[in-house]
Amino acid sequence: MKNPALPRNSFLELAQSTEICDSNKGVFFIDGIFGPIAEAKISILDWGFLRNDSCYDTVTTWHGKFFRLDDHINRFLTSASGLRLSCPYTADEVREILMAVVARSQIQDAYVQAILTRGRPPPGSRDPRLAQCQFHAYAVPYVWIATPEVQERGLNMIVSHIPRIPPESVNPNFKNFSWLDMERALMEAYDQGGETVVLVDFDGNITEGPGFNLFAVNSGSVITPDRGVLEGITRRTVIELCTEVGTHCQTSTVTKDMASSADEIFISSSAGGIMPVTILDGKPIANGRPGPLTEQLRKLYWQKRESGWHGTAVNYS
Ligand code: PLP
Repeated sequence: MKNPALPRNSFLELAQSTEICDSNKGVFFIDGIFGPIAEAKISILDWGFLRNDSCYDTVTTWHGKFFRLDDHINRFLTSASGLRLSCPYTADEVREILMAVVARSQIQDAYVQAILTRGRPPPGSRDPRLAQCQFHAYAVPYVWIATPEVQERGLNMIVSHIPRIPPESVNPNFKNFSWLDMERALMEAYDQGGETVVLVDFDGNITEGPGFNLFAVNSGSVITPDRGVLEGITRRTVIELCTEVGTHCQTSTVTKDMASSADEIFISSSAGGIMPVTILDGKPIANGRPGPLTEQLRKLYWQKRESGWHGTAVNYS
């Protein structure tokens, strides 16, 4: 149905703009079929949609190479078995499909998701065990939580009062789309003039934010929450990079005070790598500029990715 508020030819103009063309770039794999991302559709009756009963993983390519592909596939299959979702494909087959969506899209710097939904139990049944799980995948252009321009100045972050869904209810290590806590917190942050948000646990300690882990640096030592968070693959990478630059990264409780008095704060995600936070709850972190350790780790991360570290080349031919 046409949107009556939209003048007839403005849609045409919009459709010809690069913005729309770029957002249409990408390839899906659904029901065993590849196709252009603009035509991707799944059933409204899939419990992935009706119950949020699903798991997923996000892996990226940079200059045509996947980063830690097997780590992402292992985590995806661990999430699936943790949530009793049965993947119709083996690890090798998932790998092949992820390779294929990127190769077919011809995207060099890609944001790639593997998704497993519960599917649909027989009509009238409410028993998830009777459903046949569905595997989906897609590749689109790389997505940044903070663009390189925003990373130059650092993110403006709010600490939400909304607690992250507790791990006893939904284990964050089974990577899932239960994001309503994070979406609510993000809305709250936008209302307060922030650009992003980090959630607390029921004791008020820092957990994680929409799509990222958080790190605080104090007197040269790095700390990241050890509980109530997804053990991000980039988080693991940060811990390794810290060792490489001779800094210890501790996984432990991070209180709100530890965050607000930190010398530096940064976040980690497949969607953007290592990204500085320079304002927390409206106050600058230290001098309000990205900190030296954050910058060192951020540069090292991209240098190493560009040199093919933990990389798996995509065969585009
Ligand atoms: N925490 C949450 C809730 C996430 O959704 C993500 C990534 O999507 C992360 C942390 C970061 O994980 P990774 O570094 O594996 O991308």
